[in-house]
Amino acid sequence: MKKIVILGAGTAGTMVATHLNHLMDRNEWQITIIDEDPIHYYQAGYIFVPFGMASEKRLMKNKKDFIPSSVKYIQEKITLIEPENNRVILENKVTLDYDYLVIATGCDIHPEETPGMAEHEWGKSIHSFYTLKTASALKTAIENFKGGRLVVNVVENPIKCPVAPMEFLMLADAYFTKKGIRDRVEIIYATPLSGAFTKPVASKYIGKYLEQKNIKVEADFYIEHVDPDEKKIVSYDEFDIAYDLLVTVPLNKGADVVGKSGLGDELNYSPVNKSTFLSDKYANIFVLGDASNAPTSKAGSVAHYAVDLFGENFKRYTEGKELEEKFDGHTNCFIETGFGKGVLLDFNYEQEPLRGRFPIPGIGPFSLLQESYINHLGKLSFEFMYWNILMRGRKIPLAPTMTMAGKWKE
Ligand SMILES: Cc1cc2nc3c(=O)[nH]c(=O)nc-3n(C[C@H](O)[C@H](O)[C@H](O)COP(=O)(O)OP(=O)(O)OC[C@H]3O[C@@H](n4cnc5c(N)ncnc54)[C@H](O)[C@@H]3O)c2cc1C
Repeated sequence: MKKIVILGAGTAGTMVATHLNHLMDRNEWQITIIDEDPIHYYQAGYIFVPFGMASEKRLMKNKKDFIPSSVKYIQEKITLIEPENNRVILENKVTLDYDYLVIATGCDIHPEETPGMAEHEWGKSIHSFYTLKTASALKTAIENFKGGRLVVNVVENPIKCPVAPMEFLMLADAYFTKKGIRDRVEIIYATPLSGAFTKPVASKYIGKYLEQKNIKVEADFYIEHVDPDEKKIVSYDEFDIAYDLLVTVPLNKGADVVGKSGLGDELNYSPVNKSTFLSDKYANIFVLGDASNAPTSKAGSVAHYAVDLFGENFKRYTEGKELEEKFDGHTNCFIETGFGKGVLLDFNYEQEPLRGRFPIPGIGPFSLLQESYINHLGKLSFEFMYWNILMRGRKIPLAPTMTMAGKWKE
């Protein structure tokens, strides 16, 4: 039997396992997937937790339930990849050989990398909604917040779901408005970007929404440290912003094991061909999802489109054919804007977000770059699609590459 080993059973790894399970001849190929954490989290739901709009329980399911029974599932920490020897070493000292390796170990937050952040005020006046545990702690802090200055800070890009901080800001605006204390809450967004978002067109639109909601953007803010006693964040150019409640998006980094195994860049993201996901260094290693350095958004929707194209391409490759450079960086992001509305972005490596309708040209039902109730419903329905369609290896009738029909630039 030839061996495919998948590292990580989160969004991307699970989809790779279900797709390859269908595509590859199971008399010839053994597929193994490894993850240290038995729980699969629906991370896109984390932004709702601090506002009491989603329970912790709803966002957690057993990983095993999504792995096809004919795929071998190992729950263990991966401690080393030895690409020269085509093998992986687990914490329990078990060694697994592979013919092909798929790395899907994602990325995670590192508050300890910013001085002053993960110290005595962590979980008190300093919070993050980037893990389920920290999002739950933030819920209590938000409930108890009676007024003052709420600062949301992104330490450095890239981060998972680059729109999530803005969703948090707008949901906070809606939450405090409904609670009747919005006039007592000052909301500030301190970002290292020169505007609200990485894409200039979307930045213009979202910047407009933030302005309308009286959310102030402190652009080009590169945090150097947090002063937890004085309750202020300080930038490299010694500009400081005081807070009563700090909500941080700490430094995001790829998995340690990727860096330790010589497969990562300075942030442990693994360099790949951005259209095929083949490792720049090894011809039998692919990297899918947030773990790669592909210059697209680190998002589940991107992983879905990427894995859709990866499966057939991978199969061809194992048959000795050339890889096709198919993936165009297609990204869809639903952005919650509060008060039951949302915005949808559709873009790829080359194309800035456009106006128009999605997915059916001229019909929709989703409108691009425009706030609507239907877009909000789209965001909510993604959770159902995630658990019941994407993670089950079922197909959604959406083109994995971006289509231009019925779309236009402003
Ligand atoms: C707050 C927030 C909001 C988001 N909102 C959206 C959204 O609205 N839309 C959207 O599309 N995406 C959203 N995302 C992003 C989306 O969740 C991620 O992009 C997606 O989960 C990435 O999938 P992945 O498989 O690469 O990584 P993950 O799903 O994180 O999986 C990585 C897996 O690798 C395992 N692993 C890592 N290292 C090891 C090791 N050494 N040994 C064993 N196992 C290991 C982990 O346990 C984990 O299960 C959001 C994320 C966050 C945090």
